Amino acid sequence: MADRTCPFQRGRAAEQNRVDPRAPAHAVRLLVQQEGREAPRALYEAFDAYNAEYFAGELKQSLILMTTPASPRAEGDYVAQDVHGIPSRIRIAPRCEQHGLLYLQDVLLHEIVHAWQAELLDDLESGYKGHGPKFCRKANEIGAKLGLGPVAPKGRGGLPRPDSWPSNVRPPGYYGAQLPAPGGRRRNARTRADGADGGPISIVSDPLLEGLGEVDRQLVAVLAKATGRPPGALIGAWAREHAQALASASPAIAALVAGIEA
Ligand SMILES: [Zn+2]
Repeated sequence: MADRTCPFQRGRAAEQNRVDPRAPAHAVRLLVQQEGREAPRALYEAFDAYNAEYFAGELKQSLILMTTPASPRAEGDYVAQDVHGIPSRIRIAPRCEQHGLLYLQDVLLHEIVHAWQAELLDDLESGYKGHGPKFCRKANEIGAKLGLGPVAPKGRGGLPRPDSWPSNVRPPGYYGAQLPAPGGRRRNARTRADGADGGPISIVSDPLLEGLGEVDRQLVAVLAKATGRPPGALIGAWAREHAQALASASPAIAALVAGIEA
């Protein structure tokens, strides 16, 4: 009895029989090919394609799981190593599947950029919650190949934010008619309105909206739809109101406004 070996001798087993940390990812991938549904199969295939096309094949196999991320509001997340010791784990919220494969693939592409940060730069840019200058540089490099406009950290310079890239820079309708307007990655709940037709709000491409953050653009779109006025007309009316309010408090602004309206 006393000599009974402990079945869980930590360390020793690990030395004798060291497991390839990527083995779980490869095993899940094989299982998905064999038993998985179409969506996860497509994601593993997309991983290969993106790795070859945008990362020179330098990324090792990530573990890709369609399961709820740590934050239930997020559509995806990435960790360089999970609690089990599994490296490069990508989770994609199952609800994303309702928007179609193109949407799922875009969420995956976003998370793969995080994998690239971790594996090749060893810098997840935590000061920027993952979406700093390095993330943006890579996203914009890929975006240029895809014909997408650039993003900037924290939306600097009036550019779209990287948090929702690339869905927030896809052209309207890219995901299909039944899908949300581009831009719903982290703010998915706000891409749908209680409009009479129940359909998604299309973010009108109005030059006056350029420079607005994604949330503001969507709020303007809600109001534009509710009032039946184009976003530019709404913004013009607000600017006039605001200018008049400021003019009543500042003679300098009053003079400027009077000059414009004359
Ligand atoms: Zn991210």
